[in-house]
Amino acid sequence: MASELERAAALIREGRLVAFPTETVYGLGANALDAAAVARIFLVKGRPSTSPLIVHVASVEMARELTSEWPEAAERLAGRHWPGPLTLVVPKREHVPEAVTAGLKTVGLRMPAHPMALELIRLSGVPIAAPSANLFMQLSPTSAEHVRAGLGQAVDMILDGGSTPVGIESTVVSLVGERPLLLRTGMISREEIEELVGPVEVAGGPGEGGHAAPGMHARHYSPRTRLVLVRGAAVPAEGRGVYLAPGGRMPADAQSYAAALYATLHQLDGQGLDWIAVEEPPAQPAWEGIRDRLRRASVRA
Ligand code: AMP
Ligand code: MG
Repeated sequence: MASELERAAALIREGRLVAFPTETVYGLGANALDAAAVARIFLVKGRPSTSPLIVHVASVEMARELTSEWPEAAERLAGRHWPGPLTLVVPKREHVPEAVTAGLKTVGLRMPAHPMALELIRLSGVPIAAPSANLFMQLSPTSAEHVRAGLGQAVDMILDGGSTPVGIESTVVSLVGERPLLLRTGMISREEIEELVGPVEVAGGPGEGGHAAPGMHARHYSPRTRLVLVRGAAVPAEGRGVYLAPGGRMPADAQSYAAALYATLHQLDGQGLDWIAVEEPPAQPAWEGIRDRLRRASVRA
């Protein structure tokens, strides 16, 4: 009997969709070189076709085959952080479909640090395009159960690898301009990128100036329940809600906090609360990705 992973790999090769765990969140994967399969990802998620997908690879060599140029900065960043939660945006090679890159001449690449993800890519023998395995604008899934609840029958198979250890989406850095540009922060901080490649520009997030990045929406990563960022436990006076703070109901250290964040929000979202009040985490590099996601989650439509 073929193993689950072998069945999943066969589905990928047939142009079907497989949800799989990575160290960040669960991905909704398809053969990145099959434009029709990739189109199904957008359909199932309800994701606008203007939002590029990250392509997952199992090695630096596999990444380079998808690029027309592999800058020195990419070599350094991948050398230190791959496999890991870091996506590099580089010039794409001709054969990477524009369905994947939303018409851009660049492609976002990442080698995930998760044994099931890596094995799936190796067994498939193709790069796997995968956004988070949730409906557009909803909370990212950090367990197979979250995927089932959100996408259910729309996926051909869900690989269950338990809870994802990092818990928030990858850091995204573009290497196509004069200077590296941080498009999305994550658990690998700007500081850690700068250590390797020098000064990094920062693309604008909600409430900040700067460049707009493709596929970056101010409101994103949101629970349905109103999320408010507060300081000093100043929670809303009206209605029923819960208060989340590091060291109280949430872990005190950034890594464990990130790993727990989406699962906590998924769980609270089902309780019919009027609000979730989240204490603003410290303005320190380790918390930068978490602060970004919380800011986005607190923007109302
Ligand atoms: P998601 O798949 O939802 O985790 O989001 C992937 C993010 O990666 C997008 O929102 C983009 O910001 C970024 N991204 C992926 N590919 C590119 C690209 N070619 N150029 C710029 N940003 C990209
Ligand atoms: Mg997403």
